[in-house]
Amino acid sequence: MTTNMKAVICHAPMDYRLETVPMPVAGPGEALVKVEAVGICASDLKCYHGAAKFWGDANRPAWAETEVIPGHEFVGEIAEIDEEASNRWGVKKGDRVVAEQIVPCGECRYCKRGEYWMCMPHGMFGFKRATPGAMATHMVFPKEARVHKISKAVKPAHAAFAEPLSCALHAVERANIKFSDVVVVAGCGPIGLGMVAGAAAKSPAILIALDLDDRKLAVAKECGATLTINIGKEDAVQIVKDLTEGYGADIYLEGTGHPAAVPQGLKMLRKLGTFVLYSVFKEDVTVDWSIISDDKELDVLGAHLGPDCWPAAIKMIESGKLPMDKICTHQLPLEKFQEGLDLVADGTKSIKVSLIP
Ligand SMILES: [Zn+2]
Ligand SMILES: [Zn+2]
Repeated sequence: MTTNMKAVICHAPMDYRLETVPMPVAGPGEALVKVEAVGICASDLKCYHGAAKFWGDANRPAWAETEVIPGHEFVGEIAEIDEEASNRWGVKKGDRVVAEQIVPCGECRYCKRGEYWMCMPHGMFGFKRATPGAMATHMVFPKEARVHKISKAVKPAHAAFAEPLSCALHAVERANIKFSDVVVVAGCGPIGLGMVAGAAAKSPAILIALDLDDRKLAVAKECGATLTINIGKEDAVQIVKDLTEGYGADIYLEGTGHPAAVPQGLKMLRKLGTFVLYSVFKEDVTVDWSIISDDKELDVLGAHLGPDCWPAAIKMIESGKLPMDKICTHQLPLEKFQEGLDLVADGTKSIKVSLIP
C-alpha cells in the first residue's frame, strides 16, 4: 500500500497546483525527511512567472522542468535513514536538518575541483524532476545532498532561512571586506538583509543599507547597518560621496534584482572599488561599461549560491543575534501557497514568506 501526501506541483509557469501524490520512498543511502518549513524565494517567483533564466530563450536552454515539486529553502526532521546515509552525514533519525539547495553530481570538473556550487548538470532541489523540492509534507535527500544539522531551539521558518543567508554570506566573502571599508548593500529583502548581517560581522568602517521601504531599512539597522538611506527620498550617491571625501564607496553589494541598482552602484563606487552582484534580473541590464574600465578600473564579481557558508549561516541563526521574527514575516499553510507567491510578488508587505506543510 502506498501512502499519499500533499504537495505543490509545478505543471507549467503560472500553473502550480496543490495535489495528492504518492509519498516518496528513500532508497539505499538516502533519507526521508518530514518538512517543517519551506521559504518562498524570489527565484521561485521568477520560475513561476516563466523567466527566461528557468524556461529558456534565444540565449540559453531551459533549465527548470515541469511536473516538479518546488522549494529549495527548507528544514525538516529525519523520518527514515539507513546506516550508510547516517554515517555519511553524521545525522540520525529525529535530527533536524537542512540540505544545501544544490545537489552536486560529484563527477564533473567543477565538483572534482571542490567548486561544487558550479556543478555542470546543476541539479537543484525544487527545479528538476530528479530532485523534488520541499513544498510537500515529505521529501527525500539523495546521496549527493549536502546535509547540515540545525538546532531545534529555533523556529522552523527561521531555520529554513539558512539557505538565503548562506547565499548572502557567500556574496560577502566575495567582497573581501577590510576594516577601513565603506560598504554599501543595495536592497533589504532576504538576501540584502543577509548581506548586511554578514558584512557587519566583517566590521567595516561604515555599513550602509539602501532600500525604498523604511520598514525594511529599520530591520537592516537591527542586522548591523550603521547607516540607512531611503533611495526614494534621499540622494544616496551624494550621501555616500559626502561621507567619503568625494571618493565613493569601497564595496557595493547588489541584492535587489532591480536593473536601476546596477548603474547606481557604478556611480556610487570609488575608483578601484569592488562590485559584487548576487541578483538575478528579469530583463537585460544596460550600463556604460567604460565606467568599469576607463573611468574606475572596478572589480566586478559575480556570486551564486552559498558554498561553504552553511555552517556560518546556521551558527548566525542559532546565535539569536539576528531579528529573525522581523525577517520571517509570514508563515502560511501549504494550502495557501498561491497567497504566498502573491505576497512575494507584491514585495511591500513581506520580507521572507514561508510555507509550513
Ligand atoms: Zn533561494
Ligand atoms: Zn558536478
